[in-house]
Amino acid sequence: MTWQIVLLGPPGAGKGTHAKILSDRYRIPHISTGDILRSQIQQETSLGKHAKSFIDNGKLVPDELVVEMMKTRLQDPDVRHGFILDGFPRTVEQARALDEILSIKKMPLSLVLEFDTSEDVIVDRLSGRWSCSNCGANYHVRNIPPAKEGICDRCGQPLVQRKDDEPETVRERLRVYRDQTAPLIEFYEKRKLLRVVSGDLDVGPLQEELAQSMKCL
Ligand code: ATP
Ligand code: MG
Repeated sequence: MTWQIVLLGPPGAGKGTHAKILSDRYRIPHISTGDILRSQIQQETSLGKHAKSFIDNGKLVPDELVVEMMKTRLQDPDVRHGFILDGFPRTVEQARALDEILSIKKMPLSLVLEFDTSEDVIVDRLSGRWSCSNCGANYHVRNIPPAKEGICDRCGQPLVQRKDDEPETVRERLRVYRDQTAPLIEFYEKRKLLRVVSGDLDVGPLQEELAQSMKCL
């Protein structure tokens, strides 16, 4: 049996952090659209150049571009064993496109985990966040400090603060989440795929909650 999981929730909910832990534990790939887009920007590809201004302003990258990118990624051989999607879908249009891709692959979604998270927690997490410039691992000055300041525990590369974590941009990302992404909660609820977990919890307790949710599969 393979697991096809979607993590849904506002920026700063901890999707990336938990996706990495689940990916190691269940040996299925963690596919983060944010990480892929940032790496495209770093490599200065045409997709990266196109996406940059949207991301820097806290807007969504247009659906066509993200859907095309994910169509390609979901053809990779590692996806045969299932996957954890982090940051996709982010609009109803993207969710419909994902359905189509997965129905051709005969790999329907197993579960959508919604990280229900309060706004105060989000702002605190994003303002203290440092991410690895190489592997995308996330840290937090207080909650998840790296063993060595400014250096990634996983791969030894320098940590950076994301430009879109500036307070003004965070507010825009939250607005975009409410308008464009939150409708997916009802979309997946109707299909009986949704399970809600508390994104406000610390990493350890939330992992426990996620493990419980995954047991039911
Ligand atoms: P966090 O990583 O803390 O959960 P986030 O979800 O806002 O925060 P990313 O998933 O890294 O951050 O995405 C960063 C930016 O990349 C988004 O603000 C958006 O501009 C773009 N992006 C990522 N995924 C998508 C998507 N599915 N559709 C459109 N744009 C996307
Ligand atoms: Mg993320």
